[in-house]
Amino acid sequence: GDEMNIISGVLNYKSKTVDEVMTKLEDCYLLDLSSVLDFRTIASVMQSGHSRIPVYVGERHNIVGLLLVKDLALIDADDCTPLRTVIKFYNHQVQKVFDDVHLDAMLEEFKKGHSHLAVVQRVNNEGSGDPFYEAIGIVTLEDILEEIIQSEIVDE
Ligand code: ADP
Repeated sequence: GDEMNIISGVLNYKSKTVDEVMTKLEDCYLLDLSSVLDFRTIASVMQSGHSRIPVYVGERHNIVGLLLVKDLALIDADDCTPLRTVIKFYNHQVQKVFDDVHLDAMLEEFKKGHSHLAVVQRVNNEGSGDPFYEAIGIVTLEDILEEIIQSEIVDE
């Protein structure tokens, strides 16, 4: 039953790492920093249903900022404001964690309250160039809570 699931979830979540519960980068809704906040882009953000949108430069694994949907409250689509302007103005910090961080440590980070979303990154040393950090997904407080209670939380 539910109670047994929750108890086993509580006992087991500590042994798991963020890469096991994250939303994979390919499934993430992201924005390109060079986008313009025109009607089409704003409608697409609203359509995504997410409240926090990571922002990348050049390639999707290169995440440099975070847009909160509430940042759009004062934006007029007719002004075609560059996303860059809004990102610079609010300057929300992007929390980053390595893929092998355990869920109990991640929960402690989230409880400190800076943000309930973190970008999961790893070191890419596959190519011939220098190793670099690349984003491989995002993890939120909800992803951890679902692992603890062993069931889906249906969003409003
Ligand atoms: P939200 O309500 O903004 O979607 P939650 O923290 O409730 O944020 O997360 C719900 C689920 O959506 C989680 O699995 C989380 O990883 C995922 N998620 C959050 N933001 C995004 C995003 N921008 N793109 C894709 N998935 C996301």
